Amino acid sequence: MVVVLLGPPGVGKGTQAVRLVDDLSAAHVSTGDLLRAARREGTELGNLAQGFMDRGELVPDDLILDLVKEHLIGIGASRDVIFDGFPRTTDQATGLDVVLETSGRKVDTVVLFEAPDDVLVQRLSGRRSCPDCGAVHNAYFSPPAVEGVCDRCGGTLQHRADDEPDTVKRRLQVYLDQTAPLIAFYEDHPGTMTRIGADRDVEAIYAEFNSAVTGSSEGVS
Ligand code: AMP
Repeated sequence: MVVVLLGPPGVGKGTQAVRLVDDLSAAHVSTGDLLRAARREGTELGNLAQGFMDRGELVPDDLILDLVKEHLIGIGASRDVIFDGFPRTTDQATGLDVVLETSGRKVDTVVLFEAPDDVLVQRLSGRRSCPDCGAVHNAYFSPPAVEGVCDRCGGTLQHRADDEPDTVKRRLQVYLDQTAPLIAFYEDHPGTMTRIGADRDVEAIYAEFNSAVTGSSEGVS
């Protein structure tokens, strides 16, 4: 099963993705996490991506598609995959279809998380991310048991530089201009698309999210 999570920055995709990945033993493909890892390791991709990320802009499609293709090889074709923060443009979405087709797969389910802009800005200002495992905590809404320490893996939580207010505004605009058109793309795409209101309690969102994915996966391998 291949699942795509859509939605603006701060809507909680990462938090929900990590829970589902743990419950389904699926592979979590977050292009944001992969790019941050590349930056930490100082790879060529990391260096190329750095300026785009710091400005809150999208990294060019060809770099992202190469990164995803390479990562999927390591995952193998039989494992469930949850894409988080990818695709972000229609060219990435059509590129993903081509890549999946080569292994006889397709996007089975798309989940669109939605919340008002003021909620997104507030969430991003409190967000504390784990660079080691990708788990996301929030200083206001879901604080870790021990301040600054990831509940999932014990890593040191960080406030991302691109979660600062000016970059957040830019990222929200980039989402509207370049990623929101994917909603229409996936509405016309084979497979199911579910919209989930994400301005609610994390548990309530997860219950709806899990049933949207596992319910629609019946009969899908
Ligand atoms: P995220 O962690 O998903 O919020 O991504 C952080 C940043 O990484 C974004 O603001 C972009 O600069 C870059 N990025 C992550 N995923 C993509 C993608 N699929 N396409 C282009 N840029 C991306």
